[in-house]
Amino acid sequence: MRRVCVFCGSSFGARPAYTEAARALGRLLVDRELELVYGGGNVGLMGVIADEVLAAGGRAIGVIPDSMVTREVAHTGLTELHVVDSMHARKALMAELSDGFIAMPGGIGTLDELFEVWTWSQIGIHAKPLGFLDVEGYYTHLQVFLDHVAAEGFMRARHRTMVAVEADPVGLLSAMGGFEAPETIWDHEVGKR
Ligand code: AMP
Repeated sequence: MRRVCVFCGSSFGARPAYTEAARALGRLLVDRELELVYGGGNVGLMGVIADEVLAAGGRAIGVIPDSMVTREVAHTGLTELHVVDSMHARKALMAELSDGFIAMPGGIGTLDELFEVWTWSQIGIHAKPLGFLDVEGYYTHLQVFLDHVAAEGFMRARHRTMVAVEADPVGLLSAMGGFEAPETIWDHEVGKR
């Protein structure tokens, strides 16, 4: 991987551990000579990780819709800032620029972003690693539900297990480094009775 896309909250969340984890992941990316791709904002955990990457001498690439720039929430000190015309264009460009995807703690925006790239990998639009950074068990309940989704026959086991889940950034990056893309869903599998 050369560039890692990090999806994370536009808020800080309720615990200092989330901010600390954003800093730790930012520093780790720079240590590993990985560039950050993210949503381009200067708010919440998004701003924290971008600031940490830049302070450590790394490259932080933002992708933001023009409507958010004009609301003055774009980070102005980034290595590159791509301004696009919609949220859909933003997600597409973030995915294209990146070699892997991490969801840190965040809200529905973060979940939407991770689920979209996960969906794309199921059907073979890309074959890039994905992971949840499960800081202080933030994603534990979601993992239980996702196991339920697979157990109830709405997701194949290979697509359930393709997403790494780790509590610390070093473990997560190494799990993602060993990623092997599973077979995608073929037409004959979709909705077959
Ligand atoms: P959430 O996880 O709901 O906090 O949302 C995170 C995502 O929401 C980001 O990745 C962006 O897609 C979007 N977002 C919300 N606020 C901002 C902002 N101020 N600047 C950039 N993106 C934002």
